[in-house]
Amino acid sequence: MRLSSYFLPTLKETPNEAKIASHRLMLRAGMIKQSAVGIYSWLPLGHRVLQKIIQIVREEQNKAGAQELLMPTIQSAELWHESGRYDDYGKEMLRITDRHKRELLYGPTNEELITDIFRSSVRSYRDLPLNLYHIQWKFRDEIRPRFGVMRGREFLMKDAYSFDLTKEDSDKAYQNMFVAYLRTFARMGLRAIPMRADPGAIGGNQSLSHEFHVLAETGESDVFYDKAFDSVSLEDMANADLEMANKLQSLYAAAEEEHDPDNMPIDSDDVQSGKGIEVGHIFQFGTKYSEPMGATVTTPDGDQVPVEMGSYGIGVSRLVGAIIEANHDDKGIIWPESVAPFKVVIINMRTNDEGCTGVCDDLYAQLDDAGVEVLYDDRDERAGVKFADAELIGIPWQVVIGPRGVKEGIVELRSRSGGEPENLAPADLLSRLIG
Ligand code: ATP
Ligand code: MG
Repeated sequence: MRLSSYFLPTLKETPNEAKIASHRLMLRAGMIKQSAVGIYSWLPLGHRVLQKIIQIVREEQNKAGAQELLMPTIQSAELWHESGRYDDYGKEMLRITDRHKRELLYGPTNEELITDIFRSSVRSYRDLPLNLYHIQWKFRDEIRPRFGVMRGREFLMKDAYSFDLTKEDSDKAYQNMFVAYLRTFARMGLRAIPMRADPGAIGGNQSLSHEFHVLAETGESDVFYDKAFDSVSLEDMANADLEMANKLQSLYAAAEEEHDPDNMPIDSDDVQSGKGIEVGHIFQFGTKYSEPMGATVTTPDGDQVPVEMGSYGIGVSRLVGAIIEANHDDKGIIWPESVAPFKVVIINMRTNDEGCTGVCDDLYAQLDDAGVEVLYDDRDERAGVKFADAELIGIPWQVVIGPRGVKEGIVELRSRSGGEPENLAPADLLSRLIG
């Protein structure tokens, strides 16, 4: 992509309304534009990052055996009357009436809809286990939308729903998703700490529930966790298995609502506190919806029982903000390569110099042909402006091409995350960046 023709409306000034780094940087880097309070358009640069995150989430869900479908954003109120939640949900639910005076709503979550899909076609324990998910926009009329995409009103969520015959099978489905969550966040460069959440009781059983929190000063939750978490590396999380899941679940970690300083299973000297951004939440809810909505299956003995369910959410659009909170400096964003909008930016220091432009055009064509996502700053701008924009938008690798280097047959490679710049022959640069 040539920057001269790319739609990248960066801002020079820091917008007043933005109180935290991610919100500020997303506006300044031309990633989003607010369209109404808590509702955003995703501009090309932001959209690329969102797509990267969606893809990682999707791959890990598929690997875990979940199947993707797509449910609508607008739902009929009828199903919510059946579950009893239409009245309980309160003002966060956006209620709509159509021209025939039928009650509709913009879905804040999808338990009812998925239960309806399930009950209309699944009849037998033989069709279980089943896990269905979608990645879809939700609307919640939050009382205090803030921090940009971190607490929006319209936001993108991945929500998966598991269906099992027994509580034991449901536990297996839960642990499987728990592992997938550790891996998903680690692939984005995030060490998300699983914290125990309100377990509640379902049918006499203790249900499982965890929130996944990314530690950041700007997080909205107060969190408390065993300092042993500090020795769990990103790599451990990226390669998580059931054994790792069990190990992490045995360590103390809780957000404020679940934390009782006078009643902890570990020594208070071993507990660290901080702020966390909730990027995911998984929980079992047993037969809470399947019972009132009649989602039953036959057991091997021929009985009819309501299906055991669990729900698994990831805040996909919130993750964009969370990743920036965890990866930025005073110049701008520092994208982890896995979610970066482009891998490389080529900075042409002198667009009116034939030699420079020749080398740039050539490298651009070769990287592009090799499938490397490359942004080419071919604008007729001062070098200082180009550097500042490259730092702001946080592309992991900068290739700097100036007249002196071109004469000597070298180009400069810089990493956005720091370290010494390297001088390389163009052929060596290509082999470094391709593959
Ligand atoms: P919170 O406590 O932050 O309001 P929640 O418990 O209401 O979250 P869930 O219903 O479990 O959230 O939704 C699943 C995930 O969706 C959350 O873990 C979070 O990452 C994301 N999410 C929830 N509300 C918002 C929002 N208003 N804006 C952006 N993402 C959100
Ligand atoms: Mg909420």
